[in-house]
Amino acid sequence: MSSWPTNGKVSAVRCGVETHQCTLVRVFAIADPEEPLVWPKDPDDFLSLVEPPHDADPGNALIYAFLDGELVCLPEQGTPKIPTQDDFRWLDVEFTSKHYMGELRGQSCYAATLNGKLSEGYSSLGLRGFLGRVDAAHFYLAGRAQQIVAWHNEHGFCGRCGSETQAHTTDRAKVCPDCGLIAYPRLSPSIIVLIHRGDDVLLARNAQWPDGMFSTLAGFVEPGESIEQTVHREVKEEVGLDVTNLRYLGSQSWPFPNSLMLGFHAEYAGGDIVCQEGEIAEANWFAPDALPQIPPPVAISRWLIDDFLNSL
Ligand SMILES: [Zn+2]
Repeated sequence: MSSWPTNGKVSAVRCGVETHQCTLVRVFAIADPEEPLVWPKDPDDFLSLVEPPHDADPGNALIYAFLDGELVCLPEQGTPKIPTQDDFRWLDVEFTSKHYMGELRGQSCYAATLNGKLSEGYSSLGLRGFLGRVDAAHFYLAGRAQQIVAWHNEHGFCGRCGSETQAHTTDRAKVCPDCGLIAYPRLSPSIIVLIHRGDDVLLARNAQWPDGMFSTLAGFVEPGESIEQTVHREVKEEVGLDVTNLRYLGSQSWPFPNSLMLGFHAEYAGGDIVCQEGEIAEANWFAPDALPQIPPPVAISRWLIDDFLNSL
């Protein structure tokens, strides 16, 4: 296997003045959309917790807050910065929900929802707007926050008996006091696969995508399937091919809205390309030196392609 891009690790230096956010400034400053900063192979610097520790500094806490579905940020030198609790003191907004997520490099992190209006100097951005523009840890925390907020908003009442749910005492979960049903944040596992035949790779254009944009095949895991079976089924459904020698490479949290992408390489085993109507507009074999437009380095589809090309 070729080497994994591991430069997602960002060394950050505090300036020594505790009230400055120099650590984050430095992290944002070196984030580059052309660098594969989001390849989460190594342990991250985040400690997941449900309750804040007693010695947490509340003013210094990072707040991943959503207003009308968009993440509130402070644009700083052209890059979005996550505000702290102290920053929110100057805003005419009201927290409608707040959820402790844990600690990033010792700094508390919350997911939250807001009502109100942002002051000058603040803006809000859809989650996709953060992709490739902030340090990987902040992108994944923003995605985590969005999924926690969605779970909170969607599970206020029991899906089985309709009673109002309560927070679980120790886990990130909501419990029905009447029938006991427990609701955890929802994750949807899905596969993404690069098929290769010799040196050529199969790339497809989704029916919803603009002309010229190609990627690897992807699809959701169905109840009762192993992820390997999902690969075989999705490839057959979408392009009519058989594959063999599946190799798992890694995964990526993809919070649009709650996918966990499980990435594979697979060898072509037989069949002719037949595109699934309404789903795949076009699929072709591409030589390594004649690739079409492919996704940017922040997406697992691109890592699958790059890893294969590096292995040749
Ligand atoms: Zn119930």
